[in-house]
Amino acid sequence: MKPALKQLLKTTAATFANRLGAHRQSSSTPKLWILMYHRILPKQDRRFALEEPGMVVTPDTFAMHMNEVKRHFDVISLPEWVRLKQQNLPLPRKACAITFDDGWADNYEYAFPIIQAEKIPATIFAVAEKIGTDFQFWPNIIMALLLSNPSALSAMQKHPLFAKLAQMSPIPSKLIDREYVAVYISQLKQFSDSEIFTALYDIEWRALLNVAMPNALMSWEQLIMMQQSGLVTIGSHTCNHKRLTVAVSDEELVHEIALSKTIIETRLSSVVDLFCFPNGDYSPRALELVGNNYLAAVTTKKGIVTANTCSNYELTRIGVHEEVSNSRRLFGARLAGWL
Ligand SMILES: [Zn+2]
Repeated sequence: MKPALKQLLKTTAATFANRLGAHRQSSSTPKLWILMYHRILPKQDRRFALEEPGMVVTPDTFAMHMNEVKRHFDVISLPEWVRLKQQNLPLPRKACAITFDDGWADNYEYAFPIIQAEKIPATIFAVAEKIGTDFQFWPNIIMALLLSNPSALSAMQKHPLFAKLAQMSPIPSKLIDREYVAVYISQLKQFSDSEIFTALYDIEWRALLNVAMPNALMSWEQLIMMQQSGLVTIGSHTCNHKRLTVAVSDEELVHEIALSKTIIETRLSSVVDLFCFPNGDYSPRALELVGNNYLAAVTTKKGIVTANTCSNYELTRIGVHEEVSNSRRLFGARLAGWL
């Protein structure tokens, strides 16, 4: 199909989805839209160029989203919605809850002022043992290495893990840009987080890096300030952002799920009831442990939550990033859940 025709079809579909989606209809049963954000960064911030396209929304776009959600929904905090549901109290017909994964420093810098100005409640899922440290997520390390150093890929491929990936998924002779690295990162996910971190440690990634990487996550002080605003609730996103697959031992699962709760509760002097599965991965045992320790959990599965059908521990969300939501029409189409 010709690109121009494809674009026309996409635009037409977005127009219909925006006009006819569930966010525009009255609902006979209570529904909840949980929006999933990661990073809020303006394009001129140098961190923007070093992030996967699917992870970022600009502050202008985020502010527009907050305006739109106020127009279409009862904006509610996720813990409040969970409380109402648990106590069998009436739920809003069309509710929307804002969530941020990981605890990025930019959430404090760019999202928090907008949240305060608009008085929007939000939940941040923090990586408990990494908040306030210089920890970098491995996808960001890969992105920074490949974009900052033209010889990084060949240096990496001297390591068996990256060499194996090159064999399994031969690299096309294509310009290495953000989109390319995003594909490379998705292919790397077939290895475990610890395998990838070990390989990066082995190749001494910091020495290969030709760009500065500021701290990814916010400090405890910033997290506490957000909580003290009365608008932001902090949930757990594990201790180390480990993907909770069947490959993870029981001991590690307990650490990631139960200890992260204790750490955040101690730091914030408040109860942590909500959990978020890294990368949306969870084994049956992980789900059981989360059930034993929390009141509810969010996944990365796409969907509008219907109060009567959805388990509190597998709450679906609507992921938003810049390319799919930077106009009112595109954002509306995203809320429709069609695209
Ligand atoms: Zn995450």
